[in-house]
Amino acid sequence: MRIVLIGAPGGGKGTQAKLLVDKYGIPQISTGDSLRAAVKAGSPLGVKAKQAMDAGQLVSDDIVLGMIKERLAESDAQNGFILDGFPRNIPQAEALDSMLDDEDKPLQAGLLIDVEFNILMQRLTGRRTCGSCGQMFNIHTSPPRIEGRCDKCGGGLEHRADDNEETIGNRLKVYEAETAPLVDYFRKQGKLRTVRGVGEVESIFSAIQRVLNSLPSGIAAAKEASDLAAEPVAEAPAKTIAKKTTKKKKATKKKATSKKKTAKKKKTTKKKTSSKKKVAKKKTKKKVAKKKAKKKAKKKSFRKKR
Ligand SMILES: [Zn+2]
Repeated sequence: MRIVLIGAPGGGKGTQAKLLVDKYGIPQISTGDSLRAAVKAGSPLGVKAKQAMDAGQLVSDDIVLGMIKERLAESDAQNGFILDGFPRNIPQAEALDSMLDDEDKPLQAGLLIDVEFNILMQRLTGRRTCGSCGQMFNIHTSPPRIEGRCDKCGGGLEHRADDNEETIGNRLKVYEAETAPLVDYFRKQGKLRTVRGVGEVESIFSAIQRVLNSLPSGIAAAKEASDLAAEPVAEAPAKTIAKKTTKKKKATKKKATSKKKTAKKKKTTKKKTSSKKKVAKKKTKKKVAKKKAKKKAKKKSFRKKR
C-alpha cells in the first residue's frame, strides 16, 4: 500500500496513521521526522539539510525528496508506506510522482480525512493540557472527570495561548488554501479517496480500511487507473491505448528531466535516472520489435496456410 495521507490539524490524521502502521506493518514517513533523523545521522543529505537550516533557509524539495527515496529503500518500507506532510504543493507532488515512477512504486491513493471547519474549530479550541504532567484533554470530545483538573495527577488544566479561535482559524485557512490544489491533483489522477473523519475512531478506521482494500492492488493496475482517469480512451482499440500510454510516459519524463535541469543540479541522481530511462526506452523498443516480429510470423503462417 502506497499512500499519501491528507488531513487538517485536529482532523485525527495522526491517530489514523498510527492505526494503519499497526494494522499493515508499513512505516509512516513524515518529512519532519526524516529530516531530523538524517541531520542526526549526519548522512550526506542530512549535512545539506543542516546547512540550509543553519543558514535560515528552507530545506529544498530535492533534499526532502532524496531523503524520502532513501527512506523507501529501507527494509520496513518494502510493502508500502504512508507519506505524511509531503507533498504540500503541486510541484512537490509532481516531483514525488516522477521519483516514485522511477522506483516503480507509484502512489495508489491520496487519502483525505475530511472534517468540517466548524468541527475542527471545536476540537482545536477545546484542547486543555495538564500543567503538571502534560496529559491532554478536550472539553468537547474527551473532558476530564472534574472540570479544570487532570484525571491523572490532579494538576490544573491550561488552555494554550495559541489555541484561541483566531490563531486556529488562520491555521485552518492556511491548511485549506495549501491542500485544495493537492486534493484536485489527486482527483484528476483518479487517486483521491475521501473518508469523513467524524465519529468514533474505530468506525473512521473501518471506513479507511474499506477504501484501502478497494484500491487497485498491483503497480500496473494503479498506473492503468491513473492513465485512464487522466485521459478517457475507452473506445479506442487496445493497441492505440498502449501507444498513447507510452507516449505520455515519455512526455512526462521529458518534462521531469527539464525540470530537474533547471532545479538544483544533482549530477549523481541525474545520471542514475537517465541511465534508467535509457533502459526503459530500450525495453519499449524491444517490446515493439517483438510485437512486429509476432505480426510478421502471423502473416507468414497465414500465407502458408493459404
Ligand atoms: Zn496531570
